[in-house]
Amino acid sequence: MFIGAAARNTAVAEHLAVRTRYPGLARAILAGASAQIRNMATVGGNLLQHTRCTYFYDDDGSRCNKRQPGQGCDAIEGFNRIHAILGASPACVATHPSDMCVALAALGAILHLKGSNGERTLPLTEFHQLPGDHPEVETSLQAGELITAVEIRPFSFSTRSTYRKVRDRASYAFALVSVAAAIEIDNGTVKDVRLALGGVAHKPWRAWTAEAALKGQPATEASFRAAAEVELAAAKPLRDNAFKIELAKRTITAVLNELTGAKA
Ligand SMILES: Cc1cc2nc3c(=O)[nH]c(=O)nc-3n(C[C@H](O)[C@H](O)[C@H](O)COP(=O)(O)OP(=O)(O)OC[C@H]3O[C@@H](n4cnc5c(N)ncnc54)[C@H](O)[C@@H]3O)c2cc1C
Repeated sequence: MFIGAAARNTAVAEHLAVRTRYPGLARAILAGASAQIRNMATVGGNLLQHTRCTYFYDDDGSRCNKRQPGQGCDAIEGFNRIHAILGASPACVATHPSDMCVALAALGAILHLKGSNGERTLPLTEFHQLPGDHPEVETSLQAGELITAVEIRPFSFSTRSTYRKVRDRASYAFALVSVAAAIEIDNGTVKDVRLALGGVAHKPWRAWTAEAALKGQPATEASFRAAAEVELAAAKPLRDNAFKIELAKRTITAVLNELTGAKA
């Protein structure tokens, strides 16, 4: 399936092919922003959202390495409840805000890009960058380049996919933690699984470690929790956001329970 970069979020979420083949993507888009914003927001614009951090937006006194490279980061020692627990750096702890991109990461979406040097494709998981020493570089989009489309290559268990977003309010709030997942079960065993997290890192976080740990395991709540534990083993909490670690583990487990019926 190809989704044009100028397609509106609402149109994508409501498209019959998306709803039937990639229900997790439809759910993710509908979990974002408000109906009015989704009616106007485009796929390309959603992919290019800046990461979220109060100190990045406060350009009246706060230090931010993203806004002004080398300046320092006031979030690391500041109010950092919404910030990253995975893949952060001493330069930046901001989180990626998109819901749609988390679902696209789990689905293994491919971006189609066009610039003055020609066309190229790139897995979405390689498009957004971790902050490292250069948090001002958020994506691998080059100067003059446009996203033209998002491609989702079919896979057999995409219909068994979903998205769950945990947030402070039931609507119109960014994710504290979100989980996109698709899973294939064969005779009670996890044959294949795709898992991505939102609200935890500078980019949509594909949970490769948890996926590897789950394949071949019994499709039980204990296996799901164990896979969540290994994924979150690398988490590094800040002063105010340690709760996200347990929240992520519980959300992963709950989503996989829901998809497999492992526990009501
Ligand atoms: C109050 C508020 C709450 C929100 N809540 C959520 C939320 O909970 N979840 C969520 O996922 N999103 C959320 N959003 C984001 C929203 O859904 C839009 O995706 C976002 O605002 C981008 O808007 P836009 O699509 O109009 O892009 P624009 O503002 O038009 O573009 C954003 C950037 O992308 C660039 N761009 C656009 N298209 C392309 C392209 N094809 N190729 C290259 N560059 C391109 C533009 O040049 C610009 O730099 C929220 C936004 C607001 C304002």
